[in-house]
Amino acid sequence: MTAFWTEPDFDDHEMVHVVRDRKSGLTAIIAVHSTHLGPGAGGTRFWHYPEPKDGLRDALRLSRGMSYKNAMAGLPMGGGKAVILADEARTKTPELLAAFGDAVEGLGGKYVTAEDVGISEADMVAVAKRTAHVSGLPVSGDDAAGGDPGPFTAMGIYLGIKAAVRHKLGKDSMSGVHVAVQGTGSVGGGMARLLAKDGAKLTLADINAERAAGLAAELGGKSVDAGSILTTPCDVLSPNALGAILDETSIAALDTAIVAGGANNQLARAHHGKILFERDILFAPDYVINAGGIISVATEYLARRDGVSAGVEEVHKRIATIPEKLEQVWAQSDDTGISPDIVADRMAQELIGRG
Ligand code: NAD
Repeated sequence: MTAFWTEPDFDDHEMVHVVRDRKSGLTAIIAVHSTHLGPGAGGTRFWHYPEPKDGLRDALRLSRGMSYKNAMAGLPMGGGKAVILADEARTKTPELLAAFGDAVEGLGGKYVTAEDVGISEADMVAVAKRTAHVSGLPVSGDDAAGGDPGPFTAMGIYLGIKAAVRHKLGKDSMSGVHVAVQGTGSVGGGMARLLAKDGAKLTLADINAERAAGLAAELGGKSVDAGSILTTPCDVLSPNALGAILDETSIAALDTAIVAGGANNQLARAHHGKILFERDILFAPDYVINAGGIISVATEYLARRDGVSAGVEEVHKRIATIPEKLEQVWAQSDDTGISPDIVADRMAQELIGRG
């Protein structure tokens, strides 16, 4: 592995910890980008990388992303991320999860883990047997904070879209506003249901065409082929499937006033935010608008850590601040002529003491 500080994604990370446990076969990288606001929080990815350096890059990039996301969500949490370098067969054993739990515990709370790609809630329960520094555990009761983050993420995006429509189109109501939704899973589907209640006009697409068609029938919308959703004429395009969908070609073909959705890292490269801005399309920076899930997970963790109870009401109160944060980003963008993605990055850097 090359020295991590020569990696282009190295951004003065406070700690990059390599864990190797021969007995269980665990190899993991735990990166803590910043603990300025609190423990470095972010999920654990279980993935087979062709090269270990690809895993290192993910850990560096994603932990920085978590610093920004947690800061902009107003959470007392820093940013961290772990990757477990899985073998080709993706062998995951209780011993491996236990060794990973011990490694997290060994960091004394500097890093707090949760689920990410390849790690289930049951895996986190196994990790939690060895360390207290775990969030995203199952909760008891409908009113308790935590549990599946999808519906909370959907709620934040719904509120963020309403704010974008107010800001860009000057409309206080979603009635008749046309929203094109890419991806009708947990986040996109939940958000579409909320928008339908407000009378929005919906066009839905998913690579699982049946899923999109079923939801369109339920909500009175229209479904289209997944290949044509990005060019659908609409007021709001809401990407809720994959990252890196916005590049020179796709941006040139957009027929929308607003891009606002939950998918992480929608801009293929950093400069694509400027291209969107120059096309006069309002962008909701993804890590600001999609923070509802992390707000729920963090609220659950902080309550358990501090021995207090926290309900969904508190989570919703925090999610209700997402539109305010977006408004601040857009206002500063309007004033300075700097694209919202860059404004958001600078606000986040300021919040983590790196302005
Ligand atoms: P999901 O798996 O429930 O849904 C994703 C949907 O997108 C699936 O129905 C899938 O078939 C569809 N899809 C995949 N590729 C597509 C394509 N090219 N065109 C159209 N549809 C496509 O996942 P989710 O939890 O709803 O997450 C959606 C996005 O939001 C992801 O990028 C995720 O990283 C991000 N996100 C999710 C959360 C959360 O709380 N679940 C939080 C923050 C960010």
